Amino acid sequence: MDFISGNIGWIEVICGPMFSGKSEELIRRLRRAMIARKRVQVFKPSLDTRFSEDEIVSHADVRMKSEVVLDAAEILSRMDWRTEVVGVDEANFMGPGLIEVAGRLADSGKQVIVAGLDTDYMGRPFTPVPELLALAESITKTLAICVRCGNPAKHTQRLVNSDDLIVVGAAGMYEARCRRCFEPGVPKQEVLEFVRLRRAAEAVSGLEK
Ligand code: ADP
Ligand code: ZN
Repeated sequence: MDFISGNIGWIEVICGPMFSGKSEELIRRLRRAMIARKRVQVFKPSLDTRFSEDEIVSHADVRMKSEVVLDAAEILSRMDWRTEVVGVDEANFMGPGLIEVAGRLADSGKQVIVAGLDTDYMGRPFTPVPELLALAESITKTLAICVRCGNPAKHTQRLVNSDDLIVVGAAGMYEARCRRCFEPGVPKQEVLEFVRLRRAAEAVSGLEK
C-alpha cells in the first residue's frame, strides 16, 4: 500500500488460500520498499522450512531472504528499531501473539505487511489472520484457481489424512478449491483416488512433452 504518507505506521494484510499468490504479493511489496530505500526486515516461522531455510519462497519459486523465528515474540526481540517496513510470511504459523506484535510495530511507526492463510483445512477462520484483518488499515484477499473446475478458489483443500490443525506441506498435500468443490477436512477416498490418477496422468503428459 503506497498511498499512506507521513510517518505513521500501519498494518497491511494479504490473505487467501494456498497457491493464491500471497507470498508473491508480499515479496513484490517488499521489493518496492527496498527500491524506495526503506529499511526492511522479513520474517518467516521456523515451522515452515519446506522450500528453504532462510528465504520466503513462492510456489512459482520467487524468493526473498528472510529471518526465521520461532514465534511472533521473537520478531520483537530481533527487531532493529531503525527498520521501517516489516514483512511477515505464513502468519498462520506464528500464533496469536502476532496480533499484539503487529499492533505494537505499527504503533511505533512501522509499515507491517503480513501474509497468511485466512481459513484452515476445515474452512474455519485461522487465528491470527482474522483478528489482523480487523486491525489492519489495508486488506488484500487473493484467490487461487480451483484445480477441479477452474473457478476462483478461496479454500485450501487438505489431501492427507490428519485432524491436526497444522500439517506443513505443499503440492501433493494441499490443493486450491472453490467454494463448490471444497470438502472440509479430508476428501473421500474416491476423491483422493481421482487426485492420484490425475497426478499420474499429468506426470505422463509431462514426460511426453
Ligand atoms: P501462496 O503464498 O498464496 O501459497 P504463492 O505466492 O506461493 O502463493 O504461489 C502463487 C503461484 O502458485 C502462482 O503464481 C502460480 O504460479 C502457482 N500456482 C500453482 N497452483 C495454483 C493454483 N491452483 N492457482 C493459482 N496459482 C497456482
Ligand atoms: Zn471448483
